[in-house]
Amino acid sequence: MTQTKVAFAGLGNMGLPMAVNLIKAGCAVTGCDLLPEKTAMLAKAGGATAKDASQAAKDADIIITMLPSGDDVRRAYLSEGGIVDCAANGALLLDCSTIDVATAREVSAAAKAKRNLQMLDAPVSGGVGGAQAGSLTFMVGGEEEAVKRARPLFAVMGKNAIHAGKAGSGQAAKICNNMLLGVSMIGTAEAFNLAQKLGLTAQAFYDVASVSSGQCWSVTTYCPAPGPVPASPANNDYRAGFAASLMLKDLQLARAAATDVNAQTPLGAHAADIYEKMNAEGESHRDFSAVINMLKD
Ligand code: NAD
Repeated sequence: MTQTKVAFAGLGNMGLPMAVNLIKAGCAVTGCDLLPEKTAMLAKAGGATAKDASQAAKDADIIITMLPSGDDVRRAYLSEGGIVDCAANGALLLDCSTIDVATAREVSAAAKAKRNLQMLDAPVSGGVGGAQAGSLTFMVGGEEEAVKRARPLFAVMGKNAIHAGKAGSGQAAKICNNMLLGVSMIGTAEAFNLAQKLGLTAQAFYDVASVSSGQCWSVTTYCPAPGPVPASPANNDYRAGFAASLMLKDLQLARAAATDVNAQTPLGAHAADIYEKMNAEGESHRDFSAVINMLKD
């Protein structure tokens, strides 16, 4: 790990703490962001800075990107003079952004074809807290040999790294998981609301559902009703652990992927509609479990 030269592009809510954990573990990190204040924060934590991703990439062993969207990722890697053009021979490319499966596959194939560079898609779950604590879960798509090369870095930034299959499989796993989460959260919120209207307290329904067949993560770890699970955002004014805007993004990615491969996902599509409404009502910054309030009336 010591002396591994890492380029890190995208030092936002997730990228900065991930890069800082790599510095703490002894990596030589050169970072960049479109926003100079973010780059300055990396410098303060002991990182070197570059003007853009291509400059950062020049002599790095591993190039990590943590960017908002598929278009940002395509531009950073594939534009003329971009990462694929500028990376050192044999560098490993690691995109941890959450993006569409098709773009992940396209960029990986282009990196291979143009420069014979290995690339992994490795989106994460665990949020900003997980990025800070170094306890993220990575869902990884790409070749086995590349996954092996990345494992020491995954171990610094996270607790789990699951190799889901070939290029794009990490993104596929991520959006399928989050589609399931969006649907299960809405189902949980509906059940708590109905239980309340039928005269049950949130605690009484929780006591039943948490040990019955309705049990799921949205009930037991992230309960959307205030009370039963003290650490859930419901007890902290729904301040975002995972913002409704990010849930909407993932549900839209799932819907687009389902259309591409002609998969039937009626509940996933309905969940996207519900989170679209929540975002349109100005609640995009709230935790996604606050959907329980929108479903009350
Ligand atoms: P963010 O908006 O806070 O950070 C993204 C950063 O990338 C910004 O600072 C932006 O200036 C920078 N950027 C954009 N294009 C760039 C480029 N070409 N070169 C350098 N920097 C560039 O977003 P975030 O919350 O850190 O999320 C990053 C990714 O992680 C997204 O794909 C998101 O869906 C995913 N994600 C976020 C969370 C979360 O809880 N925030 C959880 C899991 C996954």
